[in-house]
Amino acid sequence: MSAAFDVVDLIRAKRDGRSLPPEAVDWLIDAYTRGAVADEQMSAYLMAVVWRGMSAEELARWTTAMIDSGERLDLSGVGRPTVDKHSTGGVGDKVSLVLVPLVAACGAAVPQLSGRGLGHTGGTLDKMESIPGWRADLPVARMRDQLADLGAVICAAGAGLAPADRRLYALRDVTGTVESIPLIASSIMSKKIAEGTSALVLDVKVGGGAFMTSVESARELARTMVDLGAAAGVRTEALLTAMDVPLGRTAGNALEVAEAVDVLRGGGPPDVVEVTVELARLMIDLAAADAAPGHGPVGVRDPAVVLARGEAYPVWRAMVAAQGGDPDAELPRASTIETVTAPASGYLTRLDARGVGIAAWRLGAGRARKEDAVSAGAGVRWFVGLGDRVEVGHPLLELHTDDPATLDRAREALTDAIAVGPAPATAAPLILDRVSS
Ligand code: URA
Repeated sequence: MSAAFDVVDLIRAKRDGRSLPPEAVDWLIDAYTRGAVADEQMSAYLMAVVWRGMSAEELARWTTAMIDSGERLDLSGVGRPTVDKHSTGGVGDKVSLVLVPLVAACGAAVPQLSGRGLGHTGGTLDKMESIPGWRADLPVARMRDQLADLGAVICAAGAGLAPADRRLYALRDVTGTVESIPLIASSIMSKKIAEGTSALVLDVKVGGGAFMTSVESARELARTMVDLGAAAGVRTEALLTAMDVPLGRTAGNALEVAEAVDVLRGGGPPDVVEVTVELARLMIDLAAADAAPGHGPVGVRDPAVVLARGEAYPVWRAMVAAQGGDPDAELPRASTIETVTAPASGYLTRLDARGVGIAAWRLGAGRARKEDAVSAGAGVRWFVGLGDRVEVGHPLLELHTDDPATLDRAREALTDAIAVGPAPATAAPLILDRVSS
């Protein structure tokens, strides 16, 4: 490791808007991961980054240092081109559950190392864990074997993957330093690059229910991550997708698994199908460029056709079973279900993703602290989409919970989230932009 620096000098430099030299970046990440730089010092440094940003060179080095704080998986023996997807998080976003088996059914291998949810957006592992018997923790050798056999794995990222991010993210969470494009981009990309995928598609959510509320900030985040991927040799593309309205018809763990299964069997809500197919097409294009002779066909068939014919469903079943889950088991159901009816007749003109996400979270579907447990059955189901006709007194949505004491606060979150008007709202596009390397 490089010569030691004085951390207070580095904090002052960033406070005053200067860039750190590469060796100082390496030292800072390594010293913090080892415990040689204190939390309060790193907090001050991170807050300076929030205000001052990082140069492109500094950010690339910072990301590499985070990757180098742990292991980088080698997936070269999997026998198919690898391609993964990351979503910056939305409400009702069950796309990964469909996309992983779908892209595998189209010939590529998807090594999806995921996290658990924090706040009002759900985490993929929480959703999968509502399937009886399913286990998130897989040793690396098992993960590789499953990828070679099925082309599909969703599992927890091991502790050895970008450990610097684990410490930094926990610190950012309690110091108001999450909201910084370079810090978000390096956090996401260090984990994705370390997992060993050859290509990556990013779903950067934009709107009231997302991290990024404006297209401009989402585009900047997407561009920053695409460039970091390219610099690390991972071909990366991003789609900007709308997140003002929640995806599909459910938000909550088991509710979303059931909806994902509907999509995998060739049905399900059209918005979930549209986002999934667009992401799958991009992933297949990137993977096809990597396919070596003998790998089997990649990109020969359109994912839209594969999905509509239910041909990804057997891959889902095999993927669930390989990790101890029973794909035929009944999913957990909340003990209390309350129906909310339409306050007037007309058209649904507002269904706010953030309000729905917060309601689902308060009902027990999400966690406030990372050690909290989530309720598998809790969440929100809505029966109509934006622009649909509603009749006064008819069911609009359902609140699912195991703890009836949560209902009041869930209803409160929905107060301004729903509106019924005399004319249908015009449908906004779901796919907003594409950012390529
Ligand atoms: N997700 C991450 O993994 N890191 C961030 O900083 C934000 C979202």
